[in-house]
Amino acid sequence: MSFEIIERFGDHEEVVFCNNKDVGLKAIIAIHNTTLGPALGGTRMWNYKSDEEALVDVLRLSKGMTYKAAAAGLNLGGGKAVIFGDPKKDKTEAMFRAFGAFVNSLGGIYITAEDVGTTVKDMEYIFMETPYVTGIPKAFGGSGDPSPYTAHGVLMGIKAAVKEKFNSDSLKGVAVAVQGLGNVGSHLVDYLVAEKAVVSIADIDQAKVKAAQNKYDLKVESPDDIVTSECDIFAPCALGAVINDKTIGQLKCKAIAGGANNQLHEARHGKALAELGILYAPDYVINAGGLMNVFVELEGYSAERAIDKTTQVYDNLMEVFAIAKETGSTTEDSANELAERRIKNIGNLRRHHQGRMSRPFSTLKEMTNRQK
Ligand code: NAD
Repeated sequence: MSFEIIERFGDHEEVVFCNNKDVGLKAIIAIHNTTLGPALGGTRMWNYKSDEEALVDVLRLSKGMTYKAAAAGLNLGGGKAVIFGDPKKDKTEAMFRAFGAFVNSLGGIYITAEDVGTTVKDMEYIFMETPYVTGIPKAFGGSGDPSPYTAHGVLMGIKAAVKEKFNSDSLKGVAVAVQGLGNVGSHLVDYLVAEKAVVSIADIDQAKVKAAQNKYDLKVESPDDIVTSECDIFAPCALGAVINDKTIGQLKCKAIAGGANNQLHEARHGKALAELGILYAPDYVINAGGLMNVFVELEGYSAERAIDKTTQVYDNLMEVFAIAKETGSTTEDSANELAERRIKNIGNLRRHHQGRMSRPFSTLKEMTNRQK
């Protein structure tokens, strides 16, 4: 059964089932592709209803990480882990340390991080057993909260969309509608205001709307209306599937460029956007700033270098837009094409120069040197 599911998702290099009854740990680590470097992806803790549900989730997410890292231009592969259980009730130090021991046994081909249901504290326990973990506290050489870096990458993505759509290098006077004022959205608003964009906002949490209004004079939309409001750029920074059958016919933006994951309900909505002439910045390309931030952590962290790294989102997106124009495909398909091209080209290079290239695993040396 498991093999059928693994094959359905294609071409994973390794899928590891972790079991430690003594501490109640049941987990799966999926390593999709390590052509470009060690597979990096967070550990999700979730009350999965079945083994199959967990396996499908980890296979899907790990493959997504391969594409995200490749399109971001990072020397990282794609992987992900899932732990079975209720994050509110079932966590223990022993469970996470046992999980850390499993990660360690893979010798650095998989590097973990926080994800839904796991926290910095959990990463700290994992770090007690293995150096192959990111998102640990700053005191241990970690990079802390990735959101400001994700937001800076999104700002760069909005600049790329404005360049592509309006042939302009400035955000001054550009109307940007930000949906969601959480970790990413609130930082994005700060950046946009500094660039003199005309920002409108919405959040279902009125306290967050008030906090933004206390800082700036911004137009507030209702959470229902922001998606279809009149603007140049719609920046989804809340939930997924915001571009769906219900919203697509009512959109009044010229481009969509925001930080949320899985913005398109289905792939066909990407095609529909292209037909409407609305430029779409593929979510996994524009929101890669957080991943770039942890990549910098692997090489010895510096906040300045992390911010600098996130400016690369601009070039990555311009390349995606260029492929879309050249091939006539959607920007989403073009992003996949960019990622696949890079994996193929670098893979070929490695075959040719095997043994003479120091990367991609040299970053692991830095990791193993971190203070314990
Ligand atoms: P968050 O939970 O801090 O913020 C989400 C905000 O959206 C909350 O303030 C919530 O009240 C609001 N919201 C929810 N439903 C809404 C609605 N219908 N209308 C308006 N607002 C609504 O999450 P975050 O960390 O800021 O992440 C935002 C998105 O970006 C998520 O999709 C996340 O997966 C993605 N993302 C985040 C990061 C990161 O570094 N945090 C990295 C990559 C992708």
